[in-house]
Amino acid sequence: MKADSDKTNLIGLPHMALQEFLAGLGEKSYRAVQIMKWIYHHGVIDTEEMSNISKSLRQTLAQCAEVRLTEPVSDQPSSDGTRKWLLRLECGNCIETVFIPETDRGTLCISSQVGCALNCTFCSTATQGFNRNLTVHEIIGQVLFAARTLGISPNRSKRKITNIVLMGMGEPLVNYDNVVAAIDLMLDDNAFGLSKRRVTISTAGLVPAIHKLVDSVDVSLAVSIHASNDQVRDRLVPLNKKYPIAELLPACKQYIADKPHRKITWEYVMLRGVNDLDEHARELAQLLKGIPSKINLIPFNSFPGTEYECSLPDRIGKFRNILINQGFPTIVRKTRGDDIDAACGQLVGSFTDRTRRQGRAVEIQRANGNTSNVIQTSAVKSTERDKRESEPHYEKFKTT
Ligand code: SAH
Repeated sequence: MKADSDKTNLIGLPHMALQEFLAGLGEKSYRAVQIMKWIYHHGVIDTEEMSNISKSLRQTLAQCAEVRLTEPVSDQPSSDGTRKWLLRLECGNCIETVFIPETDRGTLCISSQVGCALNCTFCSTATQGFNRNLTVHEIIGQVLFAARTLGISPNRSKRKITNIVLMGMGEPLVNYDNVVAAIDLMLDDNAFGLSKRRVTISTAGLVPAIHKLVDSVDVSLAVSIHASNDQVRDRLVPLNKKYPIAELLPACKQYIADKPHRKITWEYVMLRGVNDLDEHARELAQLLKGIPSKINLIPFNSFPGTEYECSLPDRIGKFRNILINQGFPTIVRKTRGDDIDAACGQLVGSFTDRTRRQGRAVEIQRANGNTSNVIQTSAVKSTERDKRESEPHYEKFKTT
């Protein structure tokens, strides 16, 4: 597989874009559906094998298009059945994707960025820094890769992946357009055809993007709240300083306002002595009052160098009971795949950091790469670099 292929990658092309591509080859629109079904229902990646497509189109496709998959670097099974893959992108950076089988479902946890720029202080991905957003084909490519590896089937009831959560590396709403386009393919019956309730975006709370989401995609929303007041949340989720709780909650309410029976899932990492006291539970219940909610308490998954410890099981139990007594369905999320570092917040991939957070020499491409492709090393003048790197990446989110 050529990393520098100039052929069009058919993975990740939304239905309309594929139709347009085929129209450019003089083909009718129904060909797009045929090709999508070959790729996403049957897992066929060799256009030669798409047998209901005319020979001449297959020959043309072989010249100008291909189905390029992300390549696995490693495949780690956990003792509890969880499976983690390290996938190499064409740029050489690696991301992580995790499959979590349960009796009644199979959940695929996918990444939306190479690293993460949000710097949540309890998250291992954050310590690795940030490189870039994933493209649509890199996002949906994780699903296709996992589906093919686990055994793909045109028969929906036989599919291993029943749910997809954007809870891997990255903040999905910072990579808004690509995430929305990839979700369209997850929901499209000609692609993965998942029900909207089985696809979940998890966000640290990028408020303008939550507002924008209302009109563009209808899936489940999980919000990493992690604290019951701004003082604690500012410390855990620095994005809160820009979009505090008082702005976050109305945006979440609005997201589910016209969606009957929908709830926001609140994620709350349990950190000993930081956010796990009875008063925090009561404060959280007060905060969420009136919002249709489910609460997931996540035992903190430790990683080297962290300043935090997980709350004790007894404390988590008491915290949970307070929320339940206040009327909130609350579960303690089972830690899965921790023996292979596949649990929440443990996904780190392997990539070149562009933010200096990895604390080592970094290579940074000039911000105005349109004029030069020169790779700058850490010897680049610190004033210029500091300015560029201190710019939070979520600042670039535009609500157009
Ligand atoms: N950026 C998104 C999605 C990625 S993280 C978000 O913030 O929601 C997925 C979930 O794992 C989030 O709720 C995140 O806060 C949680 N998480 C991160 N690090 C963790 C850790 N060390 N232990 C437990 N949960 C963690």
